[in-house]
Amino acid sequence: MLNTTEITEIKQLLSSEKNIVITTHKSPDGDAMGSSLALYNYLKLKGHKVKVITQNNYPTFLHWLPGNEYVIVADDKKAKAQELILNADLIFCLDFNNLKRIEYVGEWIASAHAVKFMIDHHQQPDDFAKYMFSTVNTSSTCELIYDFIEMLGDLRQIDLNIGKCIYTGLVTDTGSFRFKSASSLTLQKASYLISLGVDHASIYEKVYDTNTYDRLQLMGFALNHRFVVNKEIGYSYMWLTDAELKKYNYKTGDTEGFVNYGLSIDGVRLSAFFVERDGQIKVSFRCKDPMDVNLLARKYFNGGGHKNAAGGSSDKKIEDVVNDFLTIIPQYKNDLQI
Ligand code: 5GP
Ligand code: MN
Repeated sequence: MLNTTEITEIKQLLSSEKNIVITTHKSPDGDAMGSSLALYNYLKLKGHKVKVITQNNYPTFLHWLPGNEYVIVADDKKAKAQELILNADLIFCLDFNNLKRIEYVGEWIASAHAVKFMIDHHQQPDDFAKYMFSTVNTSSTCELIYDFIEMLGDLRQIDLNIGKCIYTGLVTDTGSFRFKSASSLTLQKASYLISLGVDHASIYEKVYDTNTYDRLQLMGFALNHRFVVNKEIGYSYMWLTDAELKKYNYKTGDTEGFVNYGLSIDGVRLSAFFVERDGQIKVSFRCKDPMDVNLLARKYFNGGGHKNAAGGSSDKKIEDVVNDFLTIIPQYKNDLQI
């Protein structure tokens, strides 16, 4: 949390024009882009020079977010991204808490002279930022951006552009307000944004009703041929290789949400998804209490996240990563029974 002294210092820092860089985790999702662009639009309103830099690309269903056209993807514009980071006065790291998650961009940030901020809701943050607004019970980083703006006394400055961005992270990180992380305060904030004119039905449509035929076919293939359920222990897993993704004309974001299907089966309390991406295996976990997939991902899969949603990665072959998972998982049997 930020204390009153820190809030006063931050107000002071933001009281004159600054060069500001906002960045977020690799393969940004709705909360990552929503929070980055909400803060972007807010800081622009306050008169700053602001750039949002992502390490890599993100799904086209987020490209409608206000300010998206100014986002710099470091993988495409390395020199520009590096220059902006090294010359920034302030750097905001949103929706992640460990610079390793953004690889070479994280190394630039570590060596930058800027005053660094972390605004995040994942477990076990690293200690690299001067100002840490890091909680683990908040629904989303977008909700923290709302709180941050309110702490700075600027709630009334939230306009339609900022509101649309914040709402997007609230809806995506709470599984459309169904996870227990969606508190009464989360819903009050969503309600306030809707009262400003944020069109929630239109945002839902832009984010969720954007399937391509290929994506649904890929999902059908995965559910039919790459999906295993073990009800005795209480888990399921799904995997997809690079060749399979190519066959269905994979585009960034196409496998988003696949991991959730397993968890919807009665008796399944942990669902895993393994996919080949960028020469690595990306792992996603979802679970129900009392299982804690943040601990599982940290201990065995070089990752982390939240108690009920976490991820990691591996340089091994996909069949070896799946085999590791199958070897490890029986020890969690007690956490997968109710
Ligand atoms: P997803 O499975 O949707 O990629 O991620 C689920 C959650 O785990 C998200 O909150 C995400 O930020 C976190 N997460 C995913 N992959 C990693 C990773 O490799 N390292 C860490 N520390 N967190 C991750
Ligand atoms: Mn998030």
